[in-house]
Amino acid sequence: MPTVASATLLIIYLDNNATTRPSAAAAAAAARGMTDFWENPSSVHRAGQAARAQVELARESIASLIGGRAREITFTSGGTESIDLAIRGIAGAGVRREPPRVISTRIEHAAVRDALDDLRKRGLIESVDAPLGPDGIVDAAGLAGLLTPNTALVSVQWANNETGAIQPVREIHRLCREHGVLFHCDGVQWIGKEPVDAGDHRHESPAPPPCDLLSLSAHKFHGPKGVGVLWVRSGVRLRPTLLGSQELGRRGGTENVPGIMAAGEAAREAAAWLADTGPRQSARVLRDRLESRILHLCPGAVVNGPQEPTLRLWNTTNIGFPRLEAEALLLLLSERGVCASAGAACSSGSLEPSPVLLAMGIDPAIAHGSIRLSLSKETTQAQVDEAALIISECVNRLRTSMPNA
Ligand code: PLP
Repeated sequence: MPTVASATLLIIYLDNNATTRPSAAAAAAAARGMTDFWENPSSVHRAGQAARAQVELARESIASLIGGRAREITFTSGGTESIDLAIRGIAGAGVRREPPRVISTRIEHAAVRDALDDLRKRGLIESVDAPLGPDGIVDAAGLAGLLTPNTALVSVQWANNETGAIQPVREIHRLCREHGVLFHCDGVQWIGKEPVDAGDHRHESPAPPPCDLLSLSAHKFHGPKGVGVLWVRSGVRLRPTLLGSQELGRRGGTENVPGIMAAGEAAREAAAWLADTGPRQSARVLRDRLESRILHLCPGAVVNGPQEPTLRLWNTTNIGFPRLEAEALLLLLSERGVCASAGAACSSGSLEPSPVLLAMGIDPAIAHGSIRLSLSKETTQAQVDEAALIISECVNRLRTSMPNA
């Protein structure tokens, strides 16, 4: 449930990192992992093998959520590690005469941007940014023009974590296949909220992911924080970054059995929720309602990202209030019980506007005053209406107290 009653305040979670609260079943699975399966799944004794069986059940649930095979699933410590493993594991695999080219975008999550920056600064890759349209959608034709024989990897997210912009991943995958280039997709925002084969009518369901490597994170679909997955298509050679025999040698370290069990449970629930389009449509209606109410109550407010709502993931809206300071707004909202964020969680707390919004060409005066609101499958209409009202009151209060606003 995204709302909890505290002694003084009813909290409405519209923060991407809090709205997908772990489900009761996921929490129960984690508890069982702690009490009943604490042994090491690599131990040969019966108790260890019972823990192993739980890990493998979870692996199958994740594989079935994304249309992959269990052997293609590697458990990690989160989306960030999955992304890091995909990028370093491919760019660093094999011997090359010159640094391989990696193509990505300037609107990726910091996990991608930071890994690429690090490899580029150390002279290990040549990093190139694909062009973007004004609404933050990758120009696939422009990306195709960057694919050279020396290109080792393309890394593009499925949906943007700040605006929800949905990228043309099928088109990018097709281009990569034609050029013999591997495609890593950061699916952290997409997986669990939309099916992998959404809009793909070429395959019998479940279709495999439209990429070669796919990163995902359990806490984005009502699982625990600190559990991620990297799906690697069979036959793709990945160089591990943490050495060890676990996870078929792709990621060393004793597995987080309780977390993995909870992630498996969350994946089963997500797959059941995704089986029918109705709940997603209802959630999208709520997001559109929140957005249009805020725009109506706060003249001058703008939506960042694609203006066409269907080009954005159903859970996200990013709204700019020109000349306001997002930080001040977030603090006021927090006092009124609305949890929201500006940009990615890792960049909140800084007064800098989101680099993702700036990379999309958004005016800094708008980017400075932009907040991200994320719904989950549990958000209710009453919460949306209440939140829109509170947001408008806080915006108007800030506007009257700031002579420039
Ligand atoms: N990629 C995207 C698009 C994200 O939204 C996030 C987290 O919010 C991550 C990667 C990092 O995932 P994690 O928090 O599991 O490390």
